[in-house]
Formats: sequence, structure tokens, C-alpha cells
Amino acid sequence: MSNLPAALIHSLKDVRGFDERLFIEVHHDDTQITSIRLNPAKPVSVSELPVESVIPWCANGRYLSERPSFTLDPTFHGGAYYVQEASSMFLDQIIKQLYKHDDEPKRVLDVCAAPGGKSTLLAAALPDSFIVSNEVIKTRVTVLAENISKWGSSNVVVTNNDPKDFKRLPGYFDLIMIDAPCSGSGLFRKDADAISEWSGANVQLCSMRQQRILTDTIGSLRQNGYLIYSTCSYSKEENEEVCDWIIDQFQVIPVDIKIDPSWGIVETKSLKHQVPGYRFYPYKLKGEGFFIACFHQRNPVDQYYPHYKPASSILKQEKTIIERWIDLPDQYVFNKQQELIVAFPAKWHEEISEVSKSLAIRKSGVAVGSIKGADLVPHHELALSNILTSNIPFAELNKEQSLQYLRRQDLLLDTKLKGWALAQYQGINLGWMKVLPNRVNNYYPVNWRILKS
Ligand code: SAM
Repeated sequence: MSNLPAALIHSLKDVRGFDERLFIEVHHDDTQITSIRLNPAKPVSVSELPVESVIPWCANGRYLSERPSFTLDPTFHGGAYYVQEASSMFLDQIIKQLYKHDDEPKRVLDVCAAPGGKSTLLAAALPDSFIVSNEVIKTRVTVLAENISKWGSSNVVVTNNDPKDFKRLPGYFDLIMIDAPCSGSGLFRKDADAISEWSGANVQLCSMRQQRILTDTIGSLRQNGYLIYSTCSYSKEENEEVCDWIIDQFQVIPVDIKIDPSWGIVETKSLKHQVPGYRFYPYKLKGEGFFIACFHQRNPVDQYYPHYKPASSILKQEKTIIERWIDLPDQYVFNKQQELIVAFPAKWHEEISEVSKSLAIRKSGVAVGSIKGADLVPHHELALSNILTSNIPFAELNKEQSLQYLRRQDLLLDTKLKGWALAQYQGINLGWMKVLPNRVNNYYPVNWRILKS
């Protein structure tokens, strides 16, 4: 590991929980922490993974004793879990504490969402909510949409907007998550290049960008809504000082989050307004550097006034065809985007209609498929989604067959199935195949196929 920036160490000297010797030592320790978060909607035996223990602040989080080849684990491709850094799973704890006595569905915005760690966590923690998962950088939206598809939640909309576009939705969201782009010192142990790229000037630049993202989006928070702000930087200029700036600029109040002392998380207070922030140091807990803080919007704010118009729906006979494939079809609305039929939870139909007027939607709900003659050609997203009915024919593949399937190779199956069927591994859907009299056609998406041998 290259030398840690002296200017960073110097700037952290008076920060609570910082210990120079331990900080340097832990950055020279090569131990890599690997952690995953299980998908509660796709319970699977993870006995093939080297699971070591539960992450104390996230019931679905697991530490692994070593990093397996996720690429060669079919359940990873089926969305049974998400590989995520352990400290950042503390968001789950915050959601549980904020909404302990309130299970009302929420409108949620994840402003800086790619590749999807926080969004998939939010989708699992708030399964009845409407989640807008946004990413400004176009090239990163593809991987975000792919990870959301694999996770299988139908209530997520992926958008590709600049934070300033959210000014069109004043007072609209109950919860806004800003996992801000930052100088990245918290990930030095995982990414040695970040050390050489670090500079005090970049910390200042990041701090200004963070303030800009907050200024652009905070007006979308409704009265009684919560703002959660996080970074993977140790610098107070991006953490506590941004929290002080938030209190100076906006009429929000800080929220205390309860932490168990055994977790090793350090609570800091910002200098000016004593805003509680939660710091994660890798020498105090099993996780990387992370900071998170939470705010409550208690004041009345300008509200967004909906001007809802029903979107054009699908034909009755098309609906009859697709209903056979969907669990509780009456709970969804189906719309057509050219040939493709997309399902979205009916209770959020108005919302999707509204936000589509203000935002560039890249994916919404679940792509069900397209109608050819009297049949549905099912879409890959439907196979991975939580809306698929359970009585679809399937073939349980062994690991070797699953990997052949995920490589999009030809499959030789001894099966009595006919027509469309699910390829499954350990009960997790991997995708579609079509069983013909003399062969099995593999419908795994070309762009997603495993190339690694
Ligand atoms: N929340 C993600 C997760 O948990 O997987 C990680 C987000 S990462 C820390 C920050 C994200 O902010 C990146 O996806 C990056 O592309 C995006 N970003 C970069 N510049 C931005 C800007 N000016 N405004 C908004 N987002 C930006």
C-alpha cells in the first residue's frame, strides 16, 4: 500500500474516534472484508458461500470468511444477494429506527444511486414504497438498472437526471437518500489507486459538489420527511462540516440514531450545530470508512400538486394473456412501451405517471414481455421479479448446467417440459428457456452472459 496522504492524517487529528497509529496500521493490513446482503424476497440456502457471521447493524447482512467467485455463483445472478460493503448497510438500521412505528408506504428518492447498493437496500427495507433510483451519469445507469432488475422489486423507477431536475418535484418525497460522490478515503483499503488520487483540493471540490447536490434536491423533501446524507470519506469537510452547512441553509433538524456500543461505530457532533454523525473506522469495526447523518424536515414546504392523467393501458385480450403469468395481477397496472408490456404496482400508478413528466425514466417496474399471437414472450425481468406467479413450469438445474445457462450456451436437458420454462438453481430463478421437441433454446440476455470460464 502506498503512503497515506499526510495532509489527510493531519486534518483528522481532532476528529472523534481518529487514532493515527491504528489508522496507519489498518491500512497496512491486507485483510479484505467481504460482505453480502441477502434478498429477503428470494430466500436461498447460502451454504455454498463461506458465511461467517451476521452484520450486527443489518439483519440481512453477512460477513464472508473469504471472497468467493461471485461470477461463478448462479444465485448471485438470480439476485439472491447483493455484494455490499458492511459499513454502508447501517442505512438499514436507520430505516428501521425512523419507521419503527410507521409502516405507511413512502415516496423515496435515492439521488446518487449507481450501482444500486443503497437502492436495493431501500427496496428491501421499504417493500411497499415507491422508490426513485436516480443516477446522473448515463454510463452508470445501465449497471444500476441491471442490479435493480436482478433484485426483482417491482416498485422501483430508475431515472437518469441531474439533481437540479428534482426542483420540478417540490415537497414530493418522504425520504431522500444522498450517498454523495466524495474523495473516497474510506475506501483506500479496497482501492489503492484512490490514495494516489487523493488531494486536499479534491476534498474541497467534493464538498462543494455535495452542497450543490443538497441544494438542488432538498426542496423535494416534504414536511415530516427525512434526509439521509452519507459519504465514504473521512474528511470533516465532506461530513460534519456539510452537516453544519445543511443546518445553516435549510430548515431541517438533526436526528439521533441509537447505536449499540458493541458495534464500534463512533458518534461525532459537528462543531457549530452539534449535528450527530456516525463514523465507521476499520480499526474499530469490520467495515470500511463511512459517514452517515440524518435530518428531519419538520416545517411546511411547498407541495407538489399532482395533475394526474391516466396513461394508455393495454388491450383486454392482452391482459387476459399476461394475467396467467402474474401473482395477484389486479394489484398492477400494465402499460405498453412500443411492444413491451410493463407492470407497475397499481397503488403507485399515479406517482409513476407524475414523475415521468419531470424525470427521464430509464426503467420502471417490471418488464413483463410482448404478445406474439395468443402468447406472451416473457421478458427476462419477469423471471427475476417478485411478481411472477409460482406455478410457472421450471427446470431445476445443477451448478454446471446453471453456469452453461448463464453463459448462454446450448443446454442438453432430459425434461418433459414443453414451451416456456424457468431455469432455476436452488429454487432461484435464473431466466427463461424454451423447450422445443428437439432442443432447448436459451433466452439468457446476451449482454448479461458470463464470459469468465
Ligand atoms: N449509492 C450508491 C450505492 O450504494 O451503490 C453509490 C453512490 S456513489 C458513492 C456516488 C454516485 O454519485 C456515483 O454513482 C456517481 O456517478 C454519482 N455522481 C457523480 N457526480 C454527481 C453529481 N454531480 N451529482 C449527482 N451524482 C453524482
